[in-house]
Amino acid sequence: MKKITEKKEAKHNAHSFLSIQDAMKQGSGSVAIRGWIHRERGSSNIKFIVLRDSSNIIQCVIEKAVVGEEKFKIADKLQIEASLEVFGDIKEDKRAPTGYEVHVKEVVVVGECDTFPITKDQGTEFLADNRHLWLRSRKMTAILKVRSTVFGAIHEYFRGQGFYEYQSPMFQSVQCEGGSTLFEVDYFKQKGVFLAQTWQLYAEPAIFGLEKIYTIAPSFRAEKSKTSRHLTEYWHAEMEFAWSTFDEIINHGEKVIKHVIKKVLETNKPELEILGRDITKLEPSLNKPFVRITYDEALKILKEKSKMNVEWGKDLRTIEEDELVKNFDRFVIVTNYPKIVKAFYMKEDPHNRDVVQGTDFLAPEGYGEIIGGSQREEKLEEIKKRLVEMGEKVSEYEFYLDTRKYGSVPHGGFGLGVERLISWICGLENIKDAIPFPRTMIRWKP
Ligand code: ATP
Ligand code: MG
Repeated sequence: MKKITEKKEAKHNAHSFLSIQDAMKQGSGSVAIRGWIHRERGSSNIKFIVLRDSSNIIQCVIEKAVVGEEKFKIADKLQIEASLEVFGDIKEDKRAPTGYEVHVKEVVVVGECDTFPITKDQGTEFLADNRHLWLRSRKMTAILKVRSTVFGAIHEYFRGQGFYEYQSPMFQSVQCEGGSTLFEVDYFKQKGVFLAQTWQLYAEPAIFGLEKIYTIAPSFRAEKSKTSRHLTEYWHAEMEFAWSTFDEIINHGEKVIKHVIKKVLETNKPELEILGRDITKLEPSLNKPFVRITYDEALKILKEKSKMNVEWGKDLRTIEEDELVKNFDRFVIVTNYPKIVKAFYMKEDPHNRDVVQGTDFLAPEGYGEIIGGSQREEKLEEIKKRLVEMGEKVSEYEFYLDTRKYGSVPHGGFGLGVERLISWICGLENIKDAIPFPRTMIRWKP
């Protein structure tokens, strides 16, 4: 046993492995690469293996005449997803899938593979049951790379703007976004403990020390409806800051989305190509100012352009949002919603007490609301009144109401659904593909 290990280590030391992408950059000469079998085919004397690593795929050619009878027999038996180390010469070859080919001199099998359960054309349920294996598909790998860029870009934006990263608890004792989507937890048999729907009520107390804060954290919502936009666990990029104006909140929303698009276009063109995403659908949101309209103007557009009558005071439903954005090629920011459709903490518009300084950012192409935000009501009596109207127990909110008692300041913020943004950027049909292991009402395994 010991001997084998030593032999393997010797091999590792003798070669420095290149990523497939770097091997192609080198373009000629001898290379050592490693990865998994993505595709394979062969005949009695020659075998073609398309090898995959995190960077790309490449065709490898194994000839009996080069590697010898015994090695060829082993290589010939290899199945898709076996892991290998491959040593050989790389050459340009226009016929190969990525334009290069490795002529194999030696191959080491690192991990053999049973018949891989995932083959072509399998149904979505089967792929969901085998999510742990489906993650290594080129599609999921491409999406996960974009996801990584998106997370990085959000951090970069807020830190660049002088925001501190701050965390709220995930176990919370109050609700913020409506009781119907609350997950109550069995917390040592205690009642009234919930998973975070948002960080907000625990973020507002922190702006008195830090002033400008942001987070990217999971939010949990017991969504009972099956839509292509809702998960029960999603990643929520939230920000909150002291001394804000409503306009400044909106401007940060537009700027963070633009920064994310810019970073993805700089970093992930190959991934967007694998996903078949038409990037001209992303560019207007980067290059032009977002459309800004009020709720009243939205109703007018719906009536005139789409013959849809929405009664004033009703929230915009998915079909109406989707219809509205058809009129534009970029993000649409809707502001000044009726007070009755929005959360208790939103500030009344000083010019019109029936509406609030709340906003939804609607993505193009019918991807729905990406950001929800508002200026917060900073007056103690007003916010208490709103809580009572909502039927909440004010005493549970005492800690929160202290933010309005001890040096209250104008402030506000927003929440951005990271998977919604990824879905739009990648052009996904369903939000479930924007997260490694999606959780919905009917899916919590594996
Ligand atoms: P919706 O009306 O689409 O359910 P919401 O009004 O409940 O959204 P907010 O409470 O404002 O959403 O949450 C902030 C952001 O979080 C939303 O703009 C959206 O991008 C995202 N989001 C909300 N709920 C979900 C969910 N269940 N799954 C994924 N993302 C979500
Ligand atoms: Mg919701």
